[in-house]
Amino acid sequence: MINKELLLKNLRNVPDFPVKGIQFKDVSTLFKSPVCLKMMVDELYEIYKDKGITKVVGIESRGFVVGGALAYKLGAGFVMCRKPGKLPAETRRCTYMKEYGEDSIEIHSDAINSQDVVLLHDDLLATGGSMKAAMNLVKEFRPRKIYINFLIELRIEGLIGREQFEGVAEITRLLEI
Ligand code: AMP
Repeated sequence: MINKELLLKNLRNVPDFPVKGIQFKDVSTLFKSPVCLKMMVDELYEIYKDKGITKVVGIESRGFVVGGALAYKLGAGFVMCRKPGKLPAETRRCTYMKEYGEDSIEIHSDAINSQDVVLLHDDLLATGGSMKAAMNLVKEFRPRKIYINFLIELRIEGLIGREQFEGVAEITRLLEI
């Protein structure tokens, strides 16, 4: 069973990081706790164990931690979505708008096939820009189905993160703050 209070207690808030005005939700304090790490992976396993997931796609870099452990537990493969220039073989790239300027993410061109059922995973949903870019990349492979998970959904007035995925992919999160 998930204990949301315990998870929230172990999540560190860092004010004004990386720039003034941002309340940074530092999941490293959740990852370093053996109890919290296990609780998150076990809970996600319960949610996704019967969905036929064949690939978990983690978004760099905090999406690699729970994503990798979950892929192992689900008996699925693990795929990395990375910042440009990090993946060594042929890649596909998606460029998206951030609050200030542009950013891009890449995935290996042979990472997914049309038989896959994909679970996209990241630590936190804010504007949804990075997950939408990752989803668009994954969609190009025409997998059988796409699921999306975040550990944390940030609910801030004016943020439309979740709305971008409604009707497109089933989305879950463990904590909402
Ligand atoms: P977004 O694309 O706006 O949904 O931002 C999500 C990505 O940025 C995730 O990979 C998060 O790790 C990171 N991120 C954005 N805002 C925060 C925040 N307030 N605290 C921690 N991580 C954040």
